[in-house]
Amino acid sequence: MRRVYLDHAAGSPVRPQAAAAAAEALAAGGNPSSVHGEGRRARARIEAARRTIAETVGAGEAFVVFTSGATEALNLAIAGAMAAGASRRILVSAVEHDAVREAAIHSIADVEIIPVDARGVLDLAWLEARLAAWRSEEGRPLVAAMLANNETGVVQPVAEAARLGRAKNALMLVDAVQALGKIGVAMSGLGADYLALSGHKIGGPPGVGALVLGANAPLARRQHGGGQERGHRAGTENLPGIAGFAAAVEAAREEAGHWAAIGAARDGLEARLHAARPELVVLGADAPRLPTISSFALPGWSAEGQVMALDLAGVAVSAGAACSSGKMRPSQVATAMGLGEEVARAALRVSFGWNSRPEDAHVLEAAWLAAAARARPAAPSLALSKEA
Ligand code: PLP
Repeated sequence: MRRVYLDHAAGSPVRPQAAAAAAEALAAGGNPSSVHGEGRRARARIEAARRTIAETVGAGEAFVVFTSGATEALNLAIAGAMAAGASRRILVSAVEHDAVREAAIHSIADVEIIPVDARGVLDLAWLEARLAAWRSEEGRPLVAAMLANNETGVVQPVAEAARLGRAKNALMLVDAVQALGKIGVAMSGLGADYLALSGHKIGGPPGVGALVLGANAPLARRQHGGGQERGHRAGTENLPGIAGFAAAVEAAREEAGHWAAIGAARDGLEARLHAARPELVVLGADAPRLPTISSFALPGWSAEGQVMALDLAGVAVSAGAACSSGKMRPSQVATAMGLGEEVARAALRVSFGWNSRPEDAHVLEAAWLAAAARARPAAPSLALSKEA
């Protein structure tokens, strides 16, 4: 049985170009801090990768800091914004990934949640009103808004949020992990002061990412040691990871046609599932979304049960709900959108990626409908029940 992997938002398989670049860097070896030929060649690989990342997001090379992933980049950004008393209060969108939410909660800052509407889109009116009431004693605002949500794919109005923030000299933190490679990610267009990226979501190796800084973004090192990454992040660079990450980013540049086909397959899938099971709730259906993610819920059928049934049928997907201490907690994103607990516990996430095929949507559809018929048989239609 061919397995169908539809969990790219959790992690994409490594692209061949990325695996080759990582293997090459690993075989060549060398410590980028060494001055001999091996060291200089290793340094050259890192700087070439830095150029690739910088060009992709329209930043200067000096503003790219390689990290162990987006989680570290986000933690570094939040600590940086707090440095030297720059900011003491963070406004965090209600649908941020835990890497932002938890980093904010565990920082020295006070945290306020920016609500989202029923489509999962940032409430700009709330943000505008909150910023208008901002008092100078509160310090410089730090606004954290992701570009695309990891559960629903909903694309946030980040540039508008940044424009509102500018009036109060706010710092803007943008988690662009899910957006990179799928839609344009440009530092200046977004108005970002901090941009977090991750390798393994676009077919690069896991354990590598980057923080891209705006020209005047404060930064403080959190990890002390050597002077790597211009003193921003001590520790020998993950050379194979960085080389693989850049190769994946380069490979992802020419994929507009692929994403158009995947987006059409995703839309078709949602329409057919909804036709078969009219009680289906598609999260963020009316919002601008990435072409690659679909999140839907059949009220009453736990996401966990769906993931297991689909796994047995050869299809890998994720639950929106998260497991913590052995207990399933309803999807925080669905909850923030005002959907009830029954839906929040049932939200499934299907996510396509670089090696997905439009036909994968049909495999998922057949497997999901068959499993749904067993787990949650459709209510008999009125006509049928009258005949019975
Ligand atoms: N932000 C978003 C939106 C994500 O989806 C993820 C990964 O799940 C992260 C941040 C964390 O990225 P990393 O695994 O590179 O630390």
